[in-house]
Amino acid sequence: MEYGPSVEDSSAVREWLAKNGPFGHFIGGKFTEPGATFATRDPSTGEDLAQLSQGSADDVADAVKAARKAQRGWAKLSGSERARYLYAIARHVQKRERFLSVLETLDNGKPIRESRDADIPLVARHFYHHAGWAELLETKLPGYTPLGVCGQIIPWNFPLLMLAWKIAPGLAAGNTVVLKPAEYTSLTALAFAEICQEVGLPAGVVNIVTGDGDTGAALVSADVDKIAFTGSTEVGRKIAETLAGTGRKLTLELGGKSPFIVMDDADLDAAVDGVADSIWFNQGQVCCAGSRILVAESVADRFERLLQTRMNRLRVGPPLDKSTDIGAIVDPVQKDRIMSICRAATDDGAELIGGHPASGCFIAPGYLRNIQPANPGMQQEIFGPIATLSTFRTADEAIELANNTRYGLAGSVWSESATVATDLAARIKAGVIWINSANMFDAAAPFGGYRESGFGREGGRVGMLEYLAEPTVKAVKEPAVT
Ligand code: NAD
Repeated sequence: MEYGPSVEDSSAVREWLAKNGPFGHFIGGKFTEPGATFATRDPSTGEDLAQLSQGSADDVADAVKAARKAQRGWAKLSGSERARYLYAIARHVQKRERFLSVLETLDNGKPIRESRDADIPLVARHFYHHAGWAELLETKLPGYTPLGVCGQIIPWNFPLLMLAWKIAPGLAAGNTVVLKPAEYTSLTALAFAEICQEVGLPAGVVNIVTGDGDTGAALVSADVDKIAFTGSTEVGRKIAETLAGTGRKLTLELGGKSPFIVMDDADLDAAVDGVADSIWFNQGQVCCAGSRILVAESVADRFERLLQTRMNRLRVGPPLDKSTDIGAIVDPVQKDRIMSICRAATDDGAELIGGHPASGCFIAPGYLRNIQPANPGMQQEIFGPIATLSTFRTADEAIELANNTRYGLAGSVWSESATVATDLAARIKAGVIWINSANMFDAAAPFGGYRESGFGREGGRVGMLEYLAEPTVKAVKEPAVT
């Protein structure tokens, strides 16, 4: 793929990689010497970007020890002192916004427009919001205490943003953390470790251990007080089994297969834009993507024509090019997985429109039509730029189709009638519902799922409670001696 004139300059990031790699872990405020390493690649070219250390159980134990040592001092700081660090982190993220966006795009393959306009600004916003929580904690949630040391495991689709969703509330509540980023996309987490050093965060408050699923499994079995996991339902299930009976707190943010319902009175142009934001954003590698489009039969033909026009306008291209809409899939393994679900769907009678694979990690946007509710394409999370398109006749039928899934993460409803939209929204079994919009996030709004999409919430007051222990000690006034 050719790089056009609007390509973002990546020289500063490449210099940083050459200067700092191969990377060790970040433990007790310092980078360790790299041990056994593996390569992290630019998925759009296959080029090795850097060598990362494969974290062993000993590395994880060292990180937990450092976090344990730091925890009491961190929790003893007043809320406003902790807030000062979180504000400083937010400001440093903003200062390095361009660098972090380019690094994220190189490592993950997402279009630079998305990392620059969505991921990194939301990271800063998350730290600002939780700085506010640190400051208000003593008055808003009196008596609540931190859990201690939190183990946090994140996926590769929004690497730095998922880190922020985990670390910001954890620290605001007075916990210290050991975070394991996804093996495909650890570089922004390591740049974040540098930011922790720059703001003078006390050693051991944030620890980052890189590695694959074995490193994650070692963290789950380590001496931590909570595990916060975002990733696949399959791994989430294993983690829940390991932690069963240990009394450790667990939150799971897992997969989804979210409905996107278009009623006959919807603004169809807006709804089609909503589809683009929903399933073609981040190459469809979004847990809450509106991957099942359900459209009222009476407007289905018109909607599909608009959808095709919109889809054909999307530009698949080099992620660093500012005019690219669809970048690279994170890894060849994921690309194969997406295409194999599409094959299973077409073998079962569905028709694939668009969705052509190109050389390297690229897949054109597409959708599956003429698809039955039990088709694997309708039931499995594709986690790629491929939606399904089906029709319904009545609102009841729309709800039945919407809830015909093992997941329950999100949903989107499009109608010009507030009554119709809110009625439908209330009947969808999912944690987050958007009306006439999709994929809107805010640090103050709790996010999370039901059923096989997991449990627990991230964001806002409810998200803070996931990092706190309820007060169990009540101060009782001594009876007066008479
Ligand atoms: P994954 O479950 O394979 O990996 C997620 C993380 O878990 C990675 O860091 C990985 O190294 C680690 N891991 C793997 N095996 C482990 C084990 N046995 N024990 C502990 N850790 C282990 O998922 P993925 O492929 O990286 O991410 C895609 C999935 O994540 C999708 O299903 C998507 O829906 C889900 N996701 C959910 C949300 C949400 O908020 N609900 C957000 C983003 C992604």
